[in-house]
Amino acid sequence: MSTLVVWDELFVEHEPGLDIRDTPERLGAVRSALSRLPPGARWASARDATRGELARVHTPAWLDELDTYRGRSALLEPDTAVSPRSVEAAVRAAGAAVGLVDALLEGTGTNGMALVRPPGHHALPERPMGFCLLNNAALAAEHARGRGVERVAILDWDVHHGNGTQRIFERRADVLYFSTHLSPFYPGTGRAEEVGAGAGVGYTVNVPMPGGLGDAELEALWRRVAMPIVERFRPGLIIVSAGFDGHADDPLGGRDAFEEQLAGRSVPGGSLLTEKGYAALCGCAGELAASLGAPLMLVLEGGYALGALGRSVRACVEVLAGARPPELGACRGAERLVLERVLEVQRRFWPL
Ligand SMILES: [Zn+2]
Repeated sequence: MSTLVVWDELFVEHEPGLDIRDTPERLGAVRSALSRLPPGARWASARDATRGELARVHTPAWLDELDTYRGRSALLEPDTAVSPRSVEAAVRAAGAAVGLVDALLEGTGTNGMALVRPPGHHALPERPMGFCLLNNAALAAEHARGRGVERVAILDWDVHHGNGTQRIFERRADVLYFSTHLSPFYPGTGRAEEVGAGAGVGYTVNVPMPGGLGDAELEALWRRVAMPIVERFRPGLIIVSAGFDGHADDPLGGRDAFEEQLAGRSVPGGSLLTEKGYAALCGCAGELAASLGAPLMLVLEGGYALGALGRSVRACVEVLAGARPPELGACRGAERLVLERVLEVQRRFWPL
């Protein structure tokens, strides 16, 4: 088994500044947690995505506008800003995801993780959003489709709903999007009833969660919903939008931060995951990949508590490289209501 860990120095040169939490220090923490890679994992370099690859997901107007920000600092929307090297970083981040698809399809590695910044899953075809300039996971999925992979599954465990990825694929039956996320929460999308549209009905699977769920509950939701659906969908590639901002320590999605995010609504804490939970979810994705014979790749999204981010990424890389995922304790039952609602919706499309 060979696990590719994709990295490029450009990813730390994206410095949005202001109050934006996606800081270069995030990747510093990840690098130090991976100062020695586990056996079976090795570093891999990234290339730039080509204009043609980017245009599979993004509109010419947005790509042209993005080009105008090269060498400049600018605030693009309330949560998204660029520094002079941000556009280069974003194009390289997209290329890291796309290039990892190539490496896995060509057998250079069996699985991998792209440690990219800026993140991608809020980016829409026509505009940036929520720290994201280009949708790295969606670009990887489209690249795989272009290379002849008939079906691709994108599984998103970031604490926020990947509204960009959902929108890009919601009318399509060839790319399945599954997301577990806090709700109500930024960006406001991802209700269980959002199931896709047109030919894509049934291929968008949303699991909105209240605060207070921990490792065992998340794993239970993945095992009861994501795994049987993806088994049946039979993708030729599995992409995980791997954000770690659902860690209990995270300032955006963790135990203390929920009220700040909901302005005025009092909710008992955000997501309570730990690095063990992320390792277990990575294990679920790995089981699917093994049973389907499909390559598995993780693409970094959020995660803003530096220590927690480093430990969580390391835990996932260890699982990708062959370590046994941890056994989690019993569920406390808080997932049952979520599960009931999601199963009721999804049983229209899948035998759950
Ligand atoms: Zn997030």
